Amino acid sequence: MSTDDLPTGRWRDVAHATGLIGDDGSPRATIFTEMSALAARTGAINLGQGFPDVDGPESVKRVAAEAIAAGANQYPPGPGIPELCAAVSAHQQRHYGLAVDPDREVLITTGATEALAASILALAGPGDEVLTLEPFYDSYAAVIAMSGARHTTVPLRPTPGGFRLDLDQLHAAVTDRTRIILVNTPHNPTGAVLGAEELAAIVAAARRHDALILTDEVYEHLVYDGLRHVPVATLPGAAERTLTVSSAGKTFSFTGWKIGWLTGPAALVDAVRTVKQFLTFTTGAPFQPAIAHALALETLTDPDSGWIAGLASSLAARRDLLTAGLTAAGFDVIPARGTYFVVADAAPLGVRDAAAFCRELPERAGVVGVPVSAFTRTPGALRSAVRFTYVKQEAVLHEAVSRLGGWRA
Ligand SMILES: *Cc1c(COP(=O)(O)O)cnc(C)c1O
Repeated sequence: MSTDDLPTGRWRDVAHATGLIGDDGSPRATIFTEMSALAARTGAINLGQGFPDVDGPESVKRVAAEAIAAGANQYPPGPGIPELCAAVSAHQQRHYGLAVDPDREVLITTGATEALAASILALAGPGDEVLTLEPFYDSYAAVIAMSGARHTTVPLRPTPGGFRLDLDQLHAAVTDRTRIILVNTPHNPTGAVLGAEELAAIVAAARRHDALILTDEVYEHLVYDGLRHVPVATLPGAAERTLTVSSAGKTFSFTGWKIGWLTGPAALVDAVRTVKQFLTFTTGAPFQPAIAHALALETLTDPDSGWIAGLASSLAARRDLLTAGLTAAGFDVIPARGTYFVVADAAPLGVRDAAAFCRELPERAGVVGVPVSAFTRTPGALRSAVRFTYVKQEAVLHEAVSRLGGWRA
């Protein structure tokens, strides 16, 4: 059976939205799959995929192991175990002064990915528009396609200080058809941390056109240079229309555990729970107590001295290392203020098409990056830009930087 013979369900829309079908209609691998295969084949250092090469805290692993031994192996409650819902609520209060009812305003999900998918499927459909920033995390386009809504975008533009939201375009893009404005800060792939003016413009636009705000804040604790993450829900007039998504994956370096959560007004959380129930029903029984423990432990979450603060400062140093190496190799690096990623423009190296460049880079320099075009849908947008991750051990980054330097020399 070829894909031509398959029924026309949503898969074709998803495949188109994510580049799994070429312009000529032929199936192909995503750039992420292709780049990881290239890394494996050439022995290049893979700075394409953003997952840590060191696990999170031992004490958190121990709680998960003990939970399995103690019998936390059957379906937990659908909304999440009470302990974890309470820990998420306390976290929002402690870090941001946000009051969240643990019983009615929290939903535990199978990663942020499921929280985002269930939210979009619950709240948008045919005839609606879902507006995202561009570039955008790859799952957004797929889920918007599944929902039948139309995907619209507003660009983040490179500036010497980092990527910034185009506020005029935002103004033009939000209309009465906009059902959801999907925000992501700190932002993957650009490393941008949205500022007060950008956040206020988003909230004002949502209020003007009665749109919901869905905000992906999985990198909430991975912010550098003394900046602070500001949750969209803390802005005046935002909380009543905002669903906030986060996850243990990035915060605690357990990306494989897939424990995420969603907070917001009870009626919106109810709607999302209705869908989530029939996607996965429940989520990772033994991991929930472990993340509840992690969120509640001061030694992990203290903003000055906790484990997460240590991770953030170590990531800032690793960002500096990679930024310096890319700059020395001739890239024009757009400063990153948070996340696992930095974007480097290869135009000064004579590159016009980063996708072609990234296919050659493993052979030529022994390093893998991902073209930013993989996170865009507007033809030609950020065509010469490459995303690199720095969530790798310093020794790995030193080797990558030395390879990039040697390749230029
Ligand atoms: C990693 C990532 C996610 C997925 O989080 P999970 O908890 O692993 O599902 C969602 N959004 C962004 C921007 C990410 O980088």
